Amino acid sequence: MLLQRVMFLPLFTQWNRQTTKNLVPRFPAVRLTGFRSNSSVPDVKERTLIAVKPDGVQRRLVGQIIRRFEQRGFKLVGLKMLQVSEELLSQHYCQLTQKPFYPSLVEYMTSGPVVVMVWEGQNVVQSSRAMVGPTNPAAAPAGTVRGDFSLHVSRNVVHASDSLEGAQREIQLWFQGKELVKWGCWDQTLTCEE
Ligand code: UDP
Ligand code: MG
Repeated sequence: MLLQRVMFLPLFTQWNRQTTKNLVPRFPAVRLTGFRSNSSVPDVKERTLIAVKPDGVQRRLVGQIIRRFEQRGFKLVGLKMLQVSEELLSQHYCQLTQKPFYPSLVEYMTSGPVVVMVWEGQNVVQSSRAMVGPTNPAAAPAGTVRGDFSLHVSRNVVHASDSLEGAQREIQLWFQGKELVKWGCWDQTLTCEE
C-alpha cells in the first residue's frame, strides 16, 4: 500500500504540472512566473488606501469588504492589521483635528485594531469612494459598504482615500515602500484593456 502511494505520487505531480501548463496559455498575459513579485511587471497606475475601521473589524466585516474589492477587479498590494496611535491618526485626519467631532473620532478609531489595505487598478480612487458610499451612512445607497453595513456617521465601518493626492499621502503615511508588493495579476487583461 505504502509502495503504491510512493509510486503514484510522482505521477500525480507530473499530471498536475502538465495540467497547469495546459490551462495557463488560454490567458495571453499569463506566465507562471507572473504570480511572483517580478521586476518586469509594469509600474502601477493608480492606488488607494482603504481601511476597515475598528467597528468593521469587531463585526467581522473584513472578509466581506475585501471580497467586494477583489470582485470588482482591483488588485490588493498591501495589507496589515494594527492598533492605530493618536499620532498617526492626527496625521491621517490632519484636516479634521479642529472639528468638534475629532475627539470622539480619535476614541472610535483607537478603540480596537484596524485593517488597512492598498488597492490598485484603473480609476481605483473614484471607484472605491463610490463603492464605500457617502460619509453619512444615512445617505448611503444600498449596495455601498456604508449603505449595507452601517447606520451612523460615527460608526461608518470603512475609510477610503478621497483623491489621488490624498491616496498618495495616506499610503506613504501607513505603509513603508517595502510593504507594498508588486505582482503580476494573471487576469489583468480580462478586467482591463492594456
Ligand atoms: N466623522 C464623524 N462625524 C462627522 C463627520 C465625520 O464622526 O460629522 C468621522 C467619520 O468616521 C468619517 C471621518 O470622520 O468617516 C472622516 O471624515 P471625512 O469627512 O473625511 O469623511 P470620509 O472621507 O470618511 O467619507
Ligand atoms: Mg475623508
